[in-house]
Amino acid sequence: MQIVYKNATLISGTGDSPVPNSILVVEDDKILFSGSAENWSQTQDPEESKAVDLKGKWIIPGLIDCHIHMDLFGFGDTFQENLVEDKLRTLRSARLMSDTLRAGFTTVRNVGTVNYIDFAVKEGIEAGYFTGPRIETAGKIISMTCSGTEYFDGMYSIADGVDECRKAAREQLKQGADCLKLMATGAVMNPGGVPGAAQLNEDEIRAVVEEGLKLGKHTAAHAHGAQGIINAVNAGVRTIEHGTMADDQAIEAMAEAGVFLVPTMSLHDVFMENADSVPGFMIEKSQDMQKTYIEIVKKAIKAGIRIAMGTDAGTNYNFHGTNASEIVYLVENKIMTPLEAISAATLVAAEAIGTAHTAGSLEKGKLADFLILDKDPISDIRVLTKNIEQVYKGGQLVS
Ligand SMILES: [Zn+2]
Repeated sequence: MQIVYKNATLISGTGDSPVPNSILVVEDDKILFSGSAENWSQTQDPEESKAVDLKGKWIIPGLIDCHIHMDLFGFGDTFQENLVEDKLRTLRSARLMSDTLRAGFTTVRNVGTVNYIDFAVKEGIEAGYFTGPRIETAGKIISMTCSGTEYFDGMYSIADGVDECRKAAREQLKQGADCLKLMATGAVMNPGGVPGAAQLNEDEIRAVVEEGLKLGKHTAAHAHGAQGIINAVNAGVRTIEHGTMADDQAIEAMAEAGVFLVPTMSLHDVFMENADSVPGFMIEKSQDMQKTYIEIVKKAIKAGIRIAMGTDAGTNYNFHGTNASEIVYLVENKIMTPLEAISAATLVAAEAIGTAHTAGSLEKGKLADFLILDKDPISDIRVLTKNIEQVYKGGQLVS
């Protein structure tokens, strides 16, 4: 049965202008046609297809968040997460992924979770036990021996030297990782982390990247400081996460290599708003970064670096299901136009995480992951946080 969604204004995700009086034809889980009604000729007997009139509504692709941690709940102090046992954490993650899907995110990349519970949640969604987005997941984060990893007990695979890094990558792949994640610099989120300091060396990172590529899987590098970004780029990673302290040289390296930058910007405001219960060491580091972050991301865009949307959802007060607030941040801080920000959270995001052949835009042959909005997101981007009327994943209405 074909379903013909008629008369909505359609944003394809490709960056093209919105199409008024559009037609979106869905058969089973795929898109058969997407575009202007003028370019459509009905191929099937209208008796055998169902028409849905969406006059006055907007259709956009399902959103994609390239950086989440499904098993973190958003506690004021993430150290408390260590008190939640894995069984409960797994169930909680399932619930949070359902919230994420209902918020319009039909795909997420999960970049670090304790004790491989991400694979169980992903499997549960694919088996139809509960609803959730399509998940690309990394298993544990590969990190060198350093202070602070105990803050997220069970989330890191500790590896020192090329051989151990290779083995850690292989272990994640054995467990079922869709991509790999490593620490190229220190972190904001633990007390000992020095975000500006490089961590894994270039040859260690390269070993991880190579192991992933053997199976066609990319590597994401957590990197704040410039040297760590450069090490990761030289070693062949596909995405730089955060990039908060990128200097001109690091930006040039990213642009030249064609890597994607996944800035996670709005969480810094969230930390500040909750400064009374977020640990002081995080507030201090976050405050420093915030001063220059917007300018750095603008510079990166100017240099031609593709920006894919990510939230770091699950971190302190950065709740799953509120992911679209990052898109709002990009627009309200004049980093991107609304159309650009929607692309960063759809097609560019899909390209970054390697799912653009099936997701990220409303184009013929792709999966029918789309949202129906009851207001225009171009004139008010906050529509994405509150006016999503329906979410479809693979042509199915998410109830
Ligand atoms: Zn993260």
